[in-house]
Amino acid sequence: IEGITPLRKEQPCAWLSIMYGCNNYCSYCIVPYVRGRERSRDPKLILSELDTLVSEGYKDITLLVQNVNSYGNDTGDIDFSELLKRADSIEGDFRLRFMTSHPKDASRKLFDVMANSRHICRSVHLPVQSGSDRILKLMNRKYDAEKYCELIDYARSVMPDITITSDVIVGFPGETEDDYNKTIELLNKVRFDSLFTFIYSKRPGTKAALMEDATTPQEKQIRFDKLLEVQNQISRSINETYLNRKVRVLIDGKSEDPNYDFKGRTNGFKLVHIKNDRLKTGDFADVTIDRVSTWALFGR
Ligand code: SF4
Repeated sequence: IEGITPLRKEQPCAWLSIMYGCNNYCSYCIVPYVRGRERSRDPKLILSELDTLVSEGYKDITLLVQNVNSYGNDTGDIDFSELLKRADSIEGDFRLRFMTSHPKDASRKLFDVMANSRHICRSVHLPVQSGSDRILKLMNRKYDAEKYCELIDYARSVMPDITITSDVIVGFPGETEDDYNKTIELLNKVRFDSLFTFIYSKRPGTKAALMEDATTPQEKQIRFDKLLEVQNQISRSINETYLNRKVRVLIDGKSEDPNYDFKGRTNGFKLVHIKNDRLKTGDFADVTIDRVSTWALFGR
């Protein structure tokens, strides 16, 4: 409801909704049925809310919607790249993120805006879901693996340091060994920083819920475990490239690791545990990385 300021309890991170609903009807997803059609918020209200957040001291602000790249389609007003450009022109010491992007709509223009920005993090979450064109079609995703890889190549050509994360669904109805192997191939080709992986689960009321599914839960679990193994190796080897490097981290709280004092995120949203008890939440700190794991970086 416009005109009511959201109650935010903790700094330094904030979510800022820019739009509601989704028009995409991916065949496995219930969101369009429960959240309704896309409704973009007025860009003036979004920018004014962002301006207020920055002046209140928020330092890591995420523009949030199911598919950022549809922003403005329903109103004919400015598109998402333009909204990002205007958001980036706000003065202050803050980082700007957005999620989620849909590969069918993410564009070179979007990556160009990111590359030329002051505040937008060099980080993108671009859910691929599968490496098989046949499964992508059944999922109603409206892109293929080639188009997806071209987008990634372009993003890396203009931002070589960009971190890329994604979502993958294993065991979508009708997924064969060959389809699954194409997903593994894509993982090895793209080399995501990290991946959110899911075993397909039926959502009643969606198209996929009516599709025939001959793969057993045991087979799906085996595929899922192997996929995690592949991704974990990739994540770890990417994290190893951070050893002995200095990264800027926004401190967002106490570390849960008893050997470290604080934790925070890099520009690319990598989790960092830090030894230094003089820091405080909301500080930016330059951290030298001296240890890595699959999931995090550690330093002082
Ligand atoms: Fe929309 Fe995302 Fe659901 Fe697809 S997966 S229908 S883009 S919310």
